[in-house]
Parts: sequence; structure tokens; C-alpha cells
Amino acid sequence: MKLVFATHNQNKFKEVKVLMPSHIELLSLTDINCSEDIPETESTIEGNAVLKSKYVKKHYGYDCFADDTGLEVPVLNNEPGVYSARYAGPANDAQANMQKLLLNLSEKENRNARFKTAISLVYGEEENIFLGICEGEIAQVQRGTDGFGYDPIFQPVGFNQTFAEMTLEQKSEIGHRGKAIRRLIEHLSE
Ligand code: IMP
Repeated sequence: MKLVFATHNQNKFKEVKVLMPSHIELLSLTDINCSEDIPETESTIEGNAVLKSKYVKKHYGYDCFADDTGLEVPVLNNEPGVYSARYAGPANDAQANMQKLLLNLSEKENRNARFKTAISLVYGEEENIFLGICEGEIAQVQRGTDGFGYDPIFQPVGFNQTFAEMTLEQKSEIGHRGKAIRRLIEHLSE
């Protein structure tokens, strides 16, 4: 059975491919010759994930799943949320995004935050959403060099390290994307 993971991010693709049951042949957007940037114009991560999975089904005919992730900070009205990639501007500059978030939190006592991943699956006539949430807090300064995005300032609940101080395996086990992916895989294995 062929299934497309609607991402251009090769690291994400590799991470997910090793977890897939053997009866599923996972294809990337490159494998199906889709080079366009699929628009993410919805106002929720769920909406953007659905948009991307339906785009692939409509234009390429494949069953597909797509993910979208946001970092929510309750004391900042859940910003940056769906705009996490472009918080400090259109360039998706991780350093600028982290600096803006640290500045906006500098006067705040409550530094709670959560990563939320939504995965939309379009499979035949079936449509499903799988969520993965990881609760934590925003550190005072950046720590660690692994990972990407906001990893150096996100410290998950129950740990002294930020995501950027963890191995990919540790992060995947407790992280938002890993949780959502495992829910998707359980469903596909049923
Ligand atoms: P995407 O939907 O996975 O492309 O994520 C949108 C943005 O959220 C990324 O550009 C990153 O800034 C941030 N982000 C998503 N996942 C993570 C993560 O696991 N760690 C840190 N930042 C992330």
C-alpha cells in the first residue's frame, strides 16, 4: 500500500519512515514529483494539516498524511501558535523567532508552553486527525545545539534538559510529533 507523507523536510521523512509498518510504502513529495510549496493559509494547525493532505489527494491522487506543528504560550494568548515558523518575519529564522519569544516573556512569570502537532490522514474515503501534545516551559536562555526551531528554549515537563540537549530518540519518545505519529501508526496497523 502506497502512502504519501506530505513534507519536503527529509529529516522528518526519515524519522517517520523507520516507524511505518512494513505493508506501507511511504512516499515523499519528491517521490511523487511534487516540488511546489503547498499553501498553509488556515488559522489553525489542524486546518493547515488538512489543507496539505487534501491538496496531495486532489492533485496527485495518492492517499496521504500531512503534519503541522505550533508552539503555544498561554500567557501570550497562545502565540506563536500556527504562526510559529514566521513569528519574527517571513524568513522562518529560528534565532530571530527564539529571541522574539524570549523578549516577549522577559517580564512574565508564567513561562508555561506546549508544542502541539496535528496530523491529517486522507485514506480512501476516510479522513482522520491525530494530535500530539508536549507540555513544558520556555527556558530563560538557549541551551543545547541539537534539533531545530524552538528546541534550545523548550524544556519539557519532568526534564532538566531542553529538547536541544536531548538525542533525537529521547525527543521523539516524549515529544509532540512522536506522539501524533504513533497514534497515526496505531490506526494504520488496526
Ligand atoms: P512545522 O509545521 O513542523 O513546519 O512547524 C512550524 C514551525 O514550528 C517550525 O518552523 C519551527 O519553528 C516550529 N517547530 C515545529 N516543530 C518543532 C520542534 O519539534 N521543535 C522546535 N520547533 C518546532
